Amino acid sequence: MASRTSLPVLWIATTNRGKTREFRSLFGSKWIVRDLHCLPRLPPVRETGKTFMANARIKALALSSALPGKLILADDSGLVVPSLGGRPGVRSARYSGPNATNETNRAKLLHAMRSFSGRLRKAYFQAALVLALNGRVLGTQTGRVWGRITTEERGTGGFGYDPIFRPKGFFGTFGELGARTKRSVSHRSQAARRMEALLSRVRAILRAKN
Ligand code: IMP
Repeated sequence: MASRTSLPVLWIATTNRGKTREFRSLFGSKWIVRDLHCLPRLPPVRETGKTFMANARIKALALSSALPGKLILADDSGLVVPSLGGRPGVRSARYSGPNATNETNRAKLLHAMRSFSGRLRKAYFQAALVLALNGRVLGTQTGRVWGRITTEERGTGGFGYDPIFRPKGFFGTFGELGARTKRSVSHRSQAARRMEALLSRVRAILRAKN
């Protein structure tokens, strides 16, 4: 395996430490995975898209234009509850308002679904990934995992809506199942695995240039 100092850097277009942790566990043997915490403050990017993919493109293009030469991977993701008309959807991070936290978002969702049972509690996590360099999109991928929203919080692992999402085929929530199990089924891992072939090609090109 390459020594760590010879690994290229993959910049994740996020300040969400939960996402970064998951990408590091997925790509960390082949890339040095960094996020926006490692850079001086950049102007905020307005996520005005109506889909996860549109927002991932906005983030990837804005950041890769602002940071020439840096390989950027943008993830836009969230939770979709069909019985709530698709909410929280692209507003997952801000579902409970401008000062939303993971806790207030989960509480709002549990409250909105308090009278729902059975199939009405079905939901999925969706991830859209966009890889970009120098203001150009190199490739895109998506991933989805279906499950159900529990009636109360269970477990403290993961981030965001993990403690109230039980993936199909499992008894526990992502908050209870642990990082390794989440990695084996999650929306983000599926999209990341689909991105691996392109990332390998880009790595080979970067290596040939240096
Ligand atoms: P984004 O930064 O606009 O993509 O917002 C993503 C939001 O969706 C997060 O803040 C979480 O609330 C939620 N989310 C996305 N992926 C996950 C996940 O894997 N687990 C739990 N919540 C997630």
